[in-house]
Amino acid sequence: MLKTVETMSNLGAIDAAHHLHPFSDMKKLNAAGTRIIQRAEGVHVFDSNGKKYLDAFAGLWCVNVGYGRREIADAVFNQINELPYYNTFFGTTTPPTTLLAQKITEHAGPKMNHVFFTNSGSEASDTWFRIARVYWKALGKPTKTKIIARKNGYHGSTVAGASLGGMKWMHEQGNLPIDGIVHINQPYWYVEGGDLSPAEFGLKVARELEEKIDELGADNVAAFVAEPIQGAGGVIVPPETYWPEISRICKEKDILLVSDEVICGFGRLGSWFGYQHFGVEPDLAPVAKGLSSGYLPIGGVLVSDRVAEVMVNQIGDFAHGYTYSGHPVCAAAALENIRIIEEEGLVERVRDDIGPYFAEAWKSLSDHEIVGEAVSVGLMAGLQLTIDKATRRRFAKPDDVGTLVRNHCVENGLIMRATGDRMLASPPLVISRGEVNEMIATLRK
Ligand code: PLP
Repeated sequence: MLKTVETMSNLGAIDAAHHLHPFSDMKKLNAAGTRIIQRAEGVHVFDSNGKKYLDAFAGLWCVNVGYGRREIADAVFNQINELPYYNTFFGTTTPPTTLLAQKITEHAGPKMNHVFFTNSGSEASDTWFRIARVYWKALGKPTKTKIIARKNGYHGSTVAGASLGGMKWMHEQGNLPIDGIVHINQPYWYVEGGDLSPAEFGLKVARELEEKIDELGADNVAAFVAEPIQGAGGVIVPPETYWPEISRICKEKDILLVSDEVICGFGRLGSWFGYQHFGVEPDLAPVAKGLSSGYLPIGGVLVSDRVAEVMVNQIGDFAHGYTYSGHPVCAAAALENIRIIEEEGLVERVRDDIGPYFAEAWKSLSDHEIVGEAVSVGLMAGLQLTIDKATRRRFAKPDDVGTLVRNHCVENGLIMRATGDRMLASPPLVISRGEVNEMIATLRK
């Protein structure tokens, strides 16, 4: 239907006339013209002019198993034929939904045995937000409602998701954050660390959580949320002192720890989940993206035994859910996606093979005159651009510099993203060594 030559050649104009894009300056976009991505294979996507790009961003941090997986298409086709939809409300489930819940928990650690399904990471944010509050209410602590999150964090675009996120420019649109959410500093040593060593800085910002809890009163705080590695905020890898201290504080102050695994989950860091990489045990963990490698929209919240026990035995009817919670076709896609990750050993591949190879190649960019730091964990990487390496001074217009570099990359057939003056990469977990070399060479250029 979209395949006629005439329609394809008009697609840009049709898009400009009718399609409002997320996170896009529509005036600029319409003037510049939308890039139309038409097909994909492996780690490459092709636009409507036939130009080939190495997608070093895996779509939007999500196509972990790479493009063109026929097995997922077949699983989806078969599921649609057998049962295209049924709900999981009011006493029913479907086989792929239930089997997916079990499959996820096989990899989530001994205390993480339950899943509540959503359609996206944003909905997962709204979901755990409510779970955290009803949990404490059911335990007779109804004042424990406040949520502490981090500046520059990203947790989605719904009202709760955008409020939990710490992006000021998002808050300005829609009078956010909503009440009851407060933000503390992020562990962004390069820009905010001053004269402290990374280790000292990691402890300092972690202890801001303790100070904030004391200021609000632990009796009023429900949870702390953070991404294991802040993604959209710039791939901010925390100093190694950070997570152990956060974990200690949450335990001592008795507040729930929420690890937002929407990017870090399903192998990106060389572990099934980011919290495993950092050795912490969260109470709740929103997931999406890599759960289905983006083939169909599905998300969820992993719920620990501690919280699930209260949900099942004390809360009873949790008045929350989506028509498509646990959608059978999306669940079938996710099950097949996880089967591929397991069968091809992709988590281990990232941890032991391509991750270390990538790390070395990425690090080699550090000698470039405008690269201040080149950090990566597994296949998640950030490149800080700087005007002066010695003083870590930033360019006068960080956004312009990032955009310039990103645009050059795209012109040269490499898709990456820029957040301010940080370049971000998160290629599919199947990227080959040759493709890593190609990516680094283009980026250096
Ligand atoms: N949480 C994190 C850490 C994310 O990176 C994102 C999206 O990028 C979300 C939540 C929101 O997920 P979605 O876009 O699927 O709603």
